[in-house]
Amino acid sequence: MSEPLPDRVLLEQAIERFNTASSTLMNSYQTLQAQVRLLTEEVEHKKQLLNSILDSIDVGVVYFDADGTVQLMNRSAEGLLGISADRVLGTPSLPAVFSEEQVTCTDGRRFPAIISRSAVKNQSGLPTGSVLFFQDITRLKQLEAENERNRRLTAMGELITKIAHEIRNPLGSIELFASLLSKDLEGTPSASYAGRISNSVRHLVNTLDNMLRFSGGVRPVFAPLVLNVVLSELIDEFREVFLSSGIDLTLTSDEVYALQGDRVLLRQAFINILLNAFQAMPDGGTITMGIRQGEAGPVVAIRDSGTGMDQETASRLFEPFYSTKDRGTGLGMSIVAGIMEAHGAHIHVQSEPGAGTTVSIEFAKDHKAGS
Ligand code: ADP
Ligand code: MG
Repeated sequence: MSEPLPDRVLLEQAIERFNTASSTLMNSYQTLQAQVRLLTEEVEHKKQLLNSILDSIDVGVVYFDADGTVQLMNRSAEGLLGISADRVLGTPSLPAVFSEEQVTCTDGRRFPAIISRSAVKNQSGLPTGSVLFFQDITRLKQLEAENERNRRLTAMGELITKIAHEIRNPLGSIELFASLLSKDLEGTPSASYAGRISNSVRHLVNTLDNMLRFSGGVRPVFAPLVLNVVLSELIDEFREVFLSSGIDLTLTSDEVYALQGDRVLLRQAFINILLNAFQAMPDGGTITMGIRQGEAGPVVAIRDSGTGMDQETASRLFEPFYSTKDRGTGLGMSIVAGIMEAHGAHIHVQSEPGAGTTVSIEFAKDHKAGS
């Protein structure tokens, strides 16, 4: 039979159990603390994530609780309303009026906006407040307006093209009859009237042709042609009229140069260059056209003794709509560039203010007749 343990031993055992229990408790408490810390961090992380998402969108977001008090406001809302969140958090109102498609701030600013409100519910489906979204659509409205303007311009362009076509054909016959008339009346005082009609009509026809070419584009149809013939036809057409303005138009060429080209387009390009030369000589002068053999192919040079051009004009010469003339369309040289590009030809312009201008066109391949 064992002896009963003395009181002292019992006490020691009790203390020991107490110590063990208390250290277990301590451990559990520490574990719990660590878990709480983790959870707090996670909540904090989620909160930050939510805030940075809210702050990075360009939609204004304002959250009202069930009492209608502002509880949250993102950065875009601050920016759009022009206030800082501190001023409205905890208050029941925003310094702005939200109408159907517009936000009007109390400081007077207003902007078109997409505005929507939705109820916020908790997990059991009970309403806990509402959230207001609004987005500034000024830029969108601008784009819409721009789009509408472009649509109108396009329609207008189409209409103008139609009208230009309508006018172009009868003008062609007016031009023809005026030049026939001026030949018939040669030697009489009326001859110069007919000459002037034919000259004005020719300018008009050229302007219309340039407009139509600009809207229709350059679509060359290549066929063999003789450059000398194309240019001497132009001399025949323009020489008389130019002479009556004190301008002497001549063609020099030592050989016959043939190439594959679009006769109608090349004519249009040379007429544009000729008319520029003509317009650069209000007090008369000389225009010489010449064809010679270049390194790659024939080179047509058109030289005038006109006003020449400054650096600015020379550098913008081929820009569509660039003109220094009161009633110039600025299409002439841009069309020359398009036509010559289609022919694989290079344009070289040499000009000096007061001394005149030379436009040289170098065709790419050697199409010399007979070779
Ligand atoms: P536009 O003749 O309608 O003005 P162009 O495209 O034919 O348009 O020419 C653009 C500009 O280049 C002209 O306004 C003019 O200032 C300049 N220019 C072109 N050719 C000559 C030239 N031969 N002499 C002087 N300036 C010229
Ligand atoms: Mg011109």
